[in-house]
Formats: sequence, C-alpha cells, structure tokens
Amino acid sequence: MMAEQEKRQGQQVFEIAVVGRAIWNLHSLNNEGTIGNVTEPRTVVLWDGAKTDGVSGEMMKHIHAFWTWIQAKQNNLPLCSACQQFKPQRADAAREGLSSGKESEAMREAISRCVLCDLHGFLVQRPTIHRQSTVEFGWVVSVREQFHRDLHIHARHAVGEQATPAKTEEEEQKNEEQEQGVTAQMLYHRPTRSGVYAFVTLFQAWRIGLNEVNYTYAVDNDDERQKRYATALTAYEWTFKRPDGAMTTTRLPHIEGIEGVVLVARNAVPVPLLTPLRDDYREKLKELAGKQGVEVHEFEDIVRLTEILMDLRTCQPFRFALKDEKAG
Ligand SMILES: [Zn+2]
Repeated sequence: MMAEQEKRQGQQVFEIAVVGRAIWNLHSLNNEGTIGNVTEPRTVVLWDGAKTDGVSGEMMKHIHAFWTWIQAKQNNLPLCSACQQFKPQRADAAREGLSSGKESEAMREAISRCVLCDLHGFLVQRPTIHRQSTVEFGWVVSVREQFHRDLHIHARHAVGEQATPAKTEEEEQKNEEQEQGVTAQMLYHRPTRSGVYAFVTLFQAWRIGLNEVNYTYAVDNDDERQKRYATALTAYEWTFKRPDGAMTTTRLPHIEGIEGVVLVARNAVPVPLLTPLRDDYREKLKELAGKQGVEVHEFEDIVRLTEILMDLRTCQPFRFALKDEKAG
C-alpha cells in the first residue's frame, strides 16, 4: 500500500495533450445545419484560404462529456441534479445550494458535488461563476487536399406510396417522422465525407477539483481527484474509439486509422502544441518536448493509443502545495 502510494506520488501528471491524425471515412459527424432538405457539411478555412472539412471542437467536447457521463452513472461518481440528466447548462440548471453567500463558496459546492461540472466547466449566471473546462478540443480538420465530400440524394419513402424505379436504389429511412405518421415522400441531400483529420486536444489534469476563485481545492481527497482524472482519460479513449457525433444512425464512421503523439508534463510546465496539419509535427513536438522535460509517447494505431492512456490512468493528477482551505 505504501509502495503503491509512493509510486503514484512519483507519477504525477500536470497536463496531457493528444495530437495526431485520424482517418475517418464516409461520416457526417458535424454539419452546418439543414436548409430546406439540404444538409451542408462543415467547411473551415485555413490561414492561406484553403477550404477544408471539419468537425467542431464543440462536437468533440460533447462526445467526451457524454462518455464521462456514462462512466459517472456506471461507477456512481457524484453528479449534480442537472448533470444527472446530462443537461448542457450543467451547474446553471442546478442552482440549489449555489446562491447563498460568496462566489468562492458557490464554486466550491459546484465543483465538489459533480464530476462533469468539475471536468467540463460551466457558467452560472447568479452568482456569476465561470469554470473553464479541464478538457479542451480544437477543430478536427482535414489535412489540405486529403479529404473528399459528396452530397448524396436520398428518398424518404412514405408508407403506402409506390416507389418509382429511380428511388428503389435509395436507402430506406426509418425515421421518427415516419413513425409519427408523416406521409409525404421527400427527397433530401445528405453529405458524406472522408479524410485524414488533424486533431489537437489538451487535458489540464492539474485543475481537477481546484477552485479558481480562491485557489483552494474544492475536492481535497486525493482518491476522489484520481477517480475524476481516470474517468476523463477513459472518456478520451472512448472518444477516439467511438466518435459518436451527428448522423451516426446512417453515417457511422469507418474508422481506418490513427497516429500521433501523447505529450505528458509531470511537473508544472505547459505541454507544447503544434498542429498535425504540418507533416513534421511529430519531429518538432519531440524536439520541443525534449527541451522542456515533457514526455512524448508515440502511437501508430488505436491499440497503442489505448495502452498509453491506460498507463496514464494509474497516475495521480498534479497537486500544488496550497494553503489548506479549512485552515484558511
Ligand atoms: Zn454537474
């Protein structure tokens, strides 16, 4: 037991970044929205004007939050009344116990009572307290020239209507509207995208349980902080294995591969970030990390990435030696 504790104390994690490229085929994980019967894929523009395909950081963060929530439910981790129901407002929709007294007290309560509020952040309007997420995602964006997009026409067949030959090849849609008795037949356009996607994500493990209104630990118990940290890492693992975004009922992605680096800062040093849109991102990140004493773990597939994240799960989130809030 002592040896185990010592090992953990020696294996603190300040920050983790996962940076790399994923090959996703035939998906439609994120869209601009639907105008009439046409759904537009997300287009993003890079600094040089290059138009490329993207999945927003909001979508990736939502996926990570969902896998965090699943684990919290399964493992009986604390959740506030809003997060019990996975409400997007989080603490702001569970104001009980937050409105009395000081902002620092409200922040302490909001963080200590809920793993999802702690990890993913929130904005409470009254009293105004804002917690920045410990988990951050950039746009997942296809590497220049390494993506393809199609807009496919599909027909929704109404029950009892005669399908014309032109429509028999189309995919059958069993959607809710049909079940609700919508009878009109309709043509609609849906995007399908494939590409090599660059992703960047940062996990600030050191901020778990930390009340940044008065810089005390709202979660003082090391085991509880460690559980939250491990939950976030497992959610990362599942996010890469199962990026469940939009339109997965008929556009479940064909995940072909993933490669990249996991950067781990053991001490209070920010991990360097560089976009995998650059072909030399790995070499440059290794160079930068080496100069800062940041660890680099490379992966060539999802199995290796899973192993790296599982190893990191046994570590302890970094802890500052702060003035004890109970004493203060
Ligand atoms: Zn919550």
